[in-house]
Amino acid sequence: MTGKENDHVAVVGAGLAGCLLACYLARRGYHVDLYERRPDPRTGGAERGRSINLALSERGLDALRRIGLEERIMADALPMRGRMIHPVAGALDYQQYSHDGERAINSISRGALNNALLDAAEAEPGVTVFFRHQLTGLDPSTGSMTYETPEGELRAVAAVVLGADGAGSVVRGQLVAQHETEEDVDFLDYGYKELTVPAVDGEFALDPGALHIWPRGTSMMIALPNPDRSFTCTMFWPTGGPDGFAALSSPAAVEDHFRAHYPDLLPLAPDLVEDYRHNPVGRLGTVRCTPWQAHGRVALLGDAAHAIVPFYGQGANCGFEDVVELDRCLAQTGGDWRRALPLFEERRKANTDAIAEMALANFVEMRDKVASPVFRCVKSVEHALERALPGRFVSRYELVSFSTVPYAQVRRRVRRQQQVLGGAALVLAGAVAAGLYRIGRIV
Ligand SMILES: Cc1cc2nc3c(=O)[nH]c(=O)nc-3n(C[C@H](O)[C@H](O)[C@H](O)COP(=O)(O)OP(=O)(O)OC[C@H]3O[C@@H](n4cnc5c(N)ncnc54)[C@H](O)[C@@H]3O)c2cc1C
Repeated sequence: MTGKENDHVAVVGAGLAGCLLACYLARRGYHVDLYERRPDPRTGGAERGRSINLALSERGLDALRRIGLEERIMADALPMRGRMIHPVAGALDYQQYSHDGERAINSISRGALNNALLDAAEAEPGVTVFFRHQLTGLDPSTGSMTYETPEGELRAVAAVVLGADGAGSVVRGQLVAQHETEEDVDFLDYGYKELTVPAVDGEFALDPGALHIWPRGTSMMIALPNPDRSFTCTMFWPTGGPDGFAALSSPAAVEDHFRAHYPDLLPLAPDLVEDYRHNPVGRLGTVRCTPWQAHGRVALLGDAAHAIVPFYGQGANCGFEDVVELDRCLAQTGGDWRRALPLFEERRKANTDAIAEMALANFVEMRDKVASPVFRCVKSVEHALERALPGRFVSRYELVSFSTVPYAQVRRRVRRQQQVLGGAALVLAGAVAAGLYRIGRIV
């Protein structure tokens, strides 16, 4: 499909990816109808239970920078240059993310980010936003859609329909129901719940320059700073079992658990029990589906196509990267959606599969390994190699968070580096053993 009749695009979901997508498409000359089931978030409060803040890193920043939004969005961001490990007892341990200690991931309010992107989308002449429009039906062969609105059912049609409606995507659900797509949704046996550490006398209660981690083996908690000088803590715990959310049923049990496992947090979180009782437990999972598009006119992106677990802080970053790649595919195909959509999937799928896998692996690293002396030693060696071999050795964290190297390439490159290092370690061990043997014979 090319030409004027295909200029009309519907984007379902005015979340992070949907708003950015609307901006990019409008700049390419498309007329975009952006449909959102919620009321306008700029006129109301945040949804309880959605993550309050998130870490934005190079991939997300790159997507914002390309259309001149980086500066505006970064104005309220708080850079975190390392992780601060909180053991049950003993001193805190700060581990910088990059070898020079300068590179940072950025804590940003999800609500403020979404609102800024909505403002940007609305400011584009080609974009119209429809709030309180919940997609309920879709015919992928014609682009005909049905929405629930406060005024009743509404029908709409567009040449192209793009589903940016999140992990529980109705667009994906419609494609699955009509046998256009197959999906696999893999939930973890873990959930998440948020707590607040308020400012103390107008100051941060913890170091705002770090992402705080309480690694506890099979579970963990993290905390990210907010511009109002509070911290949002997120517990990632098993949903069942003796250490799970379900096990803590009384205020006393909640306090006892925190006293035993997170003793330094207890005095900093005066509303701990209230937060614990009222904040919901969110689910965590990985969504895989294929194909992402049907008939060259309906496609998925962001969490709708590939929701991942949040342990690499990459879900939104990856969704923003999708937008850049789709824009590139439209440029390369001269706006021919029938070629652009399959090309987009071909280029992104291996990458989103790779980050899904790395995000799952990073959960084990965050909740368990970061506290060990071996992990600290490995990080020191990695940073030393990065200094000694600039551009030739680059750690996985650096490649994922501080570059736009495609995720699948990151995975391949890190494997290669590990093989070379493993080989070098063997040679070194062999040389040391031979030396010791010779010394032994002389002595
Ligand atoms: C605890 C937690 C921490 C996270 N931390 C990070 C982090 O540090 N860094 C990072 O990059 N990512 C993080 N993520 C992931 C990130 O939140 C998601 O990847 C990102 O929000 C996906 O953006 P999206 O636009 O695809 O979907 P969403 O942000 O979910 O937006 C979807 C939008 O579609 C709307 N919608 C849904 N259904 C319909 C419908 N039927 N009709 C119309 N509208 C609809 C929704 O209301 C919503 O506005 C985290 C996630 C969690 C759960």
